[in-house]
Amino acid sequence: MNNHYDYLVVGAGLYGSVFAHEAKKAGKSVLVIDKRPNIAGNVFTEDIEGIHVHKYGAHIFHTNNKKVWNYITQFAEFNRFTNSPVANYHGELYSLPFNMYTFNKMWGVVTPEEAEAKIEEQKREAGITEPKNLEEQAISLVGKDIFEKLIKGYTEKQWGRDCKDLPAFIIKRLPVRLTFDNNYFNALYQGIPVGGYTQMVANMLDGVEVRLEEDYLEKKAEYDALADKVIYTGPIDAYFGYSMGYLEYRSVRFETELLDKPNFQGNAAVNYTDRETPWTRIIEHKWFEFGRDAEGNDLPKTVISREYSSEWKPGDEPYYPVNDEKNGALYEKYKELAQAEKHVVFGGRLGEYKYYDMDAVIASALDMCEKELA
Ligand SMILES: Cc1cc2nc3c(=O)[nH]c(=O)nc-3n(C[C@H](O)[C@H](O)[C@H](O)COP(=O)(O)OP(=O)(O)OC[C@H]3O[C@@H](n4cnc5c(N)ncnc54)[C@H](O)[C@@H]3O)c2cc1C
Repeated sequence: MNNHYDYLVVGAGLYGSVFAHEAKKAGKSVLVIDKRPNIAGNVFTEDIEGIHVHKYGAHIFHTNNKKVWNYITQFAEFNRFTNSPVANYHGELYSLPFNMYTFNKMWGVVTPEEAEAKIEEQKREAGITEPKNLEEQAISLVGKDIFEKLIKGYTEKQWGRDCKDLPAFIIKRLPVRLTFDNNYFNALYQGIPVGGYTQMVANMLDGVEVRLEEDYLEKKAEYDALADKVIYTGPIDAYFGYSMGYLEYRSVRFETELLDKPNFQGNAAVNYTDRETPWTRIIEHKWFEFGRDAEGNDLPKTVISREYSSEWKPGDEPYYPVNDEKNGALYEKYKELAQAEKHVVFGGRLGEYKYYDMDAVIASALDMCEKELA
């Protein structure tokens, strides 16, 4: 334990952990703190009955960035999990993303030509040239059947509003595949870290001093005195005491259950695309690792999480930043204040109020390391 450090890293998520690892490697002294009782931030996985449960939402690593892939695989071996979600519409099951399996189930079409012709026919029948809202936009892109069964209910649950009352620009494209391909992410590299994300982050933080259940903002002066520089990965508005107002987030509520049976739904993710089922999707965590433990034994129990979209209010867990004009303008004001804090680097999804996939947050942290540790 030191009395003084080169760097204090606030937040043991991916951004903070990449920085801490690189700083230590560069010979700097680093202290990492986190207000939660665990490391790994939002990629935290908790071990329940041998299953790595994704506590803050399902996390599937996928990237086309070879530098990031080479970097992250130093800390974990990745399995070959491929994200192939299933849609459940009133008990009818469809493959996602929209592809030949989906179209065959929906219309009985067999060849790509037939599927294409059916989509074109549906688009023509709708006759929409200038979509005025999300509903019209989606129908003009994929036709009525796919909209009604696979888009409408899910989107309305996500946004808490009717698709007719949502702006058209939310959906710019709706990719359809005329191939039998259920692989959701078209990424070169994809998988789940064997042993869970928490173990992967623990490997990144190996040899770094970490203090948990420490809220930086509660003892800011004390912590600032401990280090020359601060890498802050908490919410930027919280850092400034919300002096200019709250940045808003979209929230998700999870209901997690341990079930005394080996298989609940046979897939990691099932989206409930009807309006009546209150949850948006159910995650069955064991299927991220093929239902087996580290020794390759089948796990006798299963853990599921029902996800509900919920309104965010100050104090709730922040999930997805709201990328609208109002929040964008407010963030710019906080960013200006942040630039004046010369001893602090604001980074990561909360520090930059930005939706980052895991690969992007790692790339962003590595870029920052290059500048900061040069
Ligand atoms: C529901 C959901 C699902 C996602 N799924 C995927 C996916 O499938 N694939 C993918 O690539 N990406 C996914 N992501 C994105 C992924 O979660 C982020 O890229 C990643 O977690 C960002 O890491 P971070 O270090 O910036 O933030 P975080 O992981 O949030 O880390 C910030 C840390 O700072 C700590 N902290 C905050 N304030 C303080 C304070 N005052 N004092 C001390 N500590 C503090 C927090 O406790 C937290 O641990 C998903 C995101 C969400 C919301």
